[in-house]
Amino acid sequence: MMYRMAKVIVDVPSRETDRPFDYLIPESMSEWIEVGSRVGVPFGRRTVQGFVVSLHEEPEMDKSRMKPIQELLDLLPPLPHDLVELAAWMSKKYACSMISTLQLMIPAALKGKAERYIHLNEDNEVSGELDEGALFALPSVLSREEEEIISYLRSSGPVTMSHLSLRYPAHSKLIKGLLGNGILSESQSIKDKIRKKTIKTVAATVSGEEAEIALASFGAQARRQKEVLNFLLEVGVTLSLQEVLSTLQVTAGTVKKLVEKGYAVIEDVEVFRDPYQDRHFKGTVPLERTPEQDYVYNALINTLNKRTNDVFLLHGITGSGKTEVYLQTIERCISMGRQAIVLVPEISLTPQMVERFKGRFGAKVAVMHSRLSTGERYDEWRKIREGRVEVAIGARSAVFAPFKDLGLIVMDEEHETSYKQEETPKYHTRDVAVRRAQQHGAAVILGSATPSLESYYAARSKSDDNFAPILLEMNQRASGSSLPGVHIVDMREELKEGNRSMFSRALHSGIASRLERGEQTVLLLNRRGHSTFVMCRSCGYVAGCSECDISLTYHQKSNNLRCHYCGYSAPAPSICPECGSEHIRYFGTGTQRVEGELSKLFPGIRVIRMDVDTTSEKGSHEKLLQAFREKKGDVLLGTQMVAKGLDFPDVTLVGVIAADTALNFPDFRSAEKTFQLLTQVAGRAGRHQLPGEVVIQSYVPDHYSIVHASGHDYNSFVREELNHRKALHYPPYSRLILVTMSHEKLPLLLRMAENFVVELKGKAQKHGWYGSLDRFMPEALDILGPVASPMPRIKNRYRFQCMVKYRGNIDAVSLVRETASATVDNLRDASLQISIDVDPQMLM
Ligand code: ADP
Ligand code: ZN
Ligand code: ZN
Repeated sequence: MMYRMAKVIVDVPSRETDRPFDYLIPESMSEWIEVGSRVGVPFGRRTVQGFVVSLHEEPEMDKSRMKPIQELLDLLPPLPHDLVELAAWMSKKYACSMISTLQLMIPAALKGKAERYIHLNEDNEVSGELDEGALFALPSVLSREEEEIISYLRSSGPVTMSHLSLRYPAHSKLIKGLLGNGILSESQSIKDKIRKKTIKTVAATVSGEEAEIALASFGAQARRQKEVLNFLLEVGVTLSLQEVLSTLQVTAGTVKKLVEKGYAVIEDVEVFRDPYQDRHFKGTVPLERTPEQDYVYNALINTLNKRTNDVFLLHGITGSGKTEVYLQTIERCISMGRQAIVLVPEISLTPQMVERFKGRFGAKVAVMHSRLSTGERYDEWRKIREGRVEVAIGARSAVFAPFKDLGLIVMDEEHETSYKQEETPKYHTRDVAVRRAQQHGAAVILGSATPSLESYYAARSKSDDNFAPILLEMNQRASGSSLPGVHIVDMREELKEGNRSMFSRALHSGIASRLERGEQTVLLLNRRGHSTFVMCRSCGYVAGCSECDISLTYHQKSNNLRCHYCGYSAPAPSICPECGSEHIRYFGTGTQRVEGELSKLFPGIRVIRMDVDTTSEKGSHEKLLQAFREKKGDVLLGTQMVAKGLDFPDVTLVGVIAADTALNFPDFRSAEKTFQLLTQVAGRAGRHQLPGEVVIQSYVPDHYSIVHASGHDYNSFVREELNHRKALHYPPYSRLILVTMSHEKLPLLLRMAENFVVELKGKAQKHGWYGSLDRFMPEALDILGPVASPMPRIKNRYRFQCMVKYRGNIDAVSLVRETASATVDNLRDASLQISIDVDPQMLM
């Protein structure tokens, strides 16, 4: 079938252009253009990049008004059909533009931009041979310089303006003149940021008798050439030119002479940049499965065999051998000729994790790391697209790995918030993984020691048709070691006993004895963002909102406390309303302060600090961990990053400096986050022969998240937490949409935000949905706000937000999206921005 027309999504980020545009397919391209092809198309007066989303036989509208596709940018379309379909699904689900979702799926190297090129104007060329006489056919007499420019362009072909002016720095006026009188002209073309990497190779072109003759022909001055040819003949295969030059200590000129004589060829050969080329990975073999692992493994293999497209929630304690199960399941998946994706939170994509997959699957694995260079990322991606690898491991964007026949998607640490992308498109990797698996009839494994409440509830209640995972559990450590003992220290008591230091006596003596024995300590400073809350150090009281059950945020400027869900505000207290103590203040301790205190208390202690400051450089995270592994540090001190997936045999003490800080983060998930973090970090101690110990310091030692984390008791925690969520209609008993509006003018913004809420309420009312979630209605929708955002002003723009809370089978996203569009249209002010976050993870 001949397609004559293509619908193209263009790379122009605006609401008006968020739809497909029609283009004619030139006959020369019709064999090549597919759904998913990347093309350059004329758009207004520019050339822009776009993606073909559908093909049609006959144009729907008048052909004469349609423009043809200008260029096809790749022979193999970068996007397979299923990803184009997935992009459409995501754009609806997350209320974002189609181009923003398509862009997610291709490597940055392919985000081409139009470049302007200068070339000889064909119309002025005398057709046929380009002989000297051609120039004299031109209308005016040209200067020598002009002729030089023209003959350069004739041999070079089109070049960029900057290239040309670099070459002829003194002649920009002449070039302008040539453009003006039509001898040169300008065009646009899409240029990629990065090209495929090639290297020059060299090989002999002669052999046998011919070679003998060739060798005999060299005179004494050509001794070096003879040496090179001899070498090439001896080796008998194509070699990199660089290698030949450095081995024989000859110059490129010598080799070129051989080429001129026809005895050798130099060719450009495409190579893949390999970020791990200097690393050797020790091979590993599958371990004999424990009974628990065997049960889980069989359930997974059964699904793979039957292609039943099941989603599993694997709840396994830290060290229960989940990763080993992933490895063995993937092995089976590959042996069936299908491919697998392994998703890990960016933070735990440590060398250890990479090593385990490379160790088992070697070159069959592509690694997609945010810290790879653009070129390296592009090459890892190409290995997947061209079918050269069978496993992709990476952070959230690896879910788009363009495999042909996916059999399995593994999502490790599925509860991690980093699976939600915080910039537009604000997608959740878990939902996308489940959808993608449906497209391929693949299985999904969501693994965690502390599954998110959403996933766990979905598995238990089976109330959601689209997402009802099958629960699998592993409760024993695979190595047979036991979970460490956890000791909770009440910091209020420490203060009463006169200890004003940030270290309790238990933690202090714990560190001291580790130093003596030459064992190691991990110290976690539990701190998220820069939130400030007010806490009493005497009794642990924290100021909170009674309506929303979250902490109030302290605003220094106005010296008051605010709830950023509902807008409630109150003056900051100077004495504790609970116990009358004056030890009430806003809280926050940095890693640097802890480090300082440590070296004061333990002179000579070697501290390895890991936080955003010390890990901003490429590879620094790995270097710090490597140093700790080599025992170049006594203490590893850090924020969340120290809690994840690390496995050090000599760590026997884990201390949590202030377990409460995350608890007081103004987020309804703060208890869950605290429980998860404490459970994770407690799992770091005593994973091997030496028994481990955990010390948790807290001002609210009775809080259920801390008590249950210390007992390694997920089920009890979940029971209690679900009760709270249910009472206040938080997820998983409702869904949320966070709408943030911003504008430079505060009064206008406020009016618009209020309008928006009124409009939305009206629409919901018409459907019969609007009303408090307290009332017994299977379908209900409530709107909180508008209130000033927790960060009320960013880059001179004021920000207001409101939260839509709903349950039941309601298309609330479309409702919000329509209302947002109408609000912007009515105002006719493009600087009013409305951002929509569906199922938000960060309510900031
Ligand atoms: P998880 O991913 O659940 O934290 P891992 O797969 O990392 O658990 O396993 C924890 C430790 O137990 C690792 O050191 C691993 O090599 C070891 N292990 C896993 N499975 C087995 C097994 N079947 N037999 C012996 N050791 C195992
Ligand atoms: Zn108090
Ligand atoms: Zn509130």
